Amino acid sequence: LWVTFEGGDGAGKTTQAALLEDWLREDGRTVVRTREPGGTEVGVLIREIVLHHRGEVAPRAEALLYAADRAHHVATLVRPALARGEVVIQDRYLDSSVAYQGAGRILDATEIRDLSLWAAEGALPDLTVLLDLDPASARARLDADDKPFDRLEAEQSDFHARVRAGFLALAAAEPDRFLVLDASLPPGELAAAVRARVASALDG
Ligand code: C5P
Ligand code: MG
Repeated sequence: LWVTFEGGDGAGKTTQAALLEDWLREDGRTVVRTREPGGTEVGVLIREIVLHHRGEVAPRAEALLYAADRAHHVATLVRPALARGEVVIQDRYLDSSVAYQGAGRILDATEIRDLSLWAAEGALPDLTVLLDLDPASARARLDADDKPFDRLEAEQSDFHARVRAGFLALAAAEPDRFLVLDASLPPGELAAAVRARVASALDG
């Protein structure tokens, strides 16, 4: 089973991924928790480039770097784990590329999605949990944790609103793959909703 968590910065993806991992481990499952960009050794190097040289990398090169990270990650970590029958829980996948690079108007959504699917040889998760949160609440959360709200100053003020709309459009286009949750709900309530969906996927 392959579960990805998506949503803007500060939506609570990492928290929910960790809660799901704990629950599955208690249930005796073997779990691989990973992320993009940066889920592999090579990916960590690519993450350095895309996050620390942002704005310096030409937009198409940036899209290709995310795709390269994804190609290597899926081929060397995700697919082998799934083939061993393990559960893969992943922080961000191709929907993030479509929402972020699409919102940045680097390429259109279809081009980015096609590039990602080529990179990943068509691999799509069984379940994608979208933690949907309005940018103002996300910002308040990150401020409270003393974490930077990514790109807030660098990007146009509506950047995060466009990212959010991008995610919601993806979820609307693939309702079977997506579980959309209101990320302003308490973490325990969100975790229960995720568990219910994962449990039925594991039974089915
Ligand atoms: O979630 P994580 O901290 O790994 O993401 C780091 C940053 O990378 C995000 O804030 C987002 O701006 C950016 N990102 C992106 N496109 C992706 C994935 C992440 O712009 N496909
Ligand atoms: Mg996170």
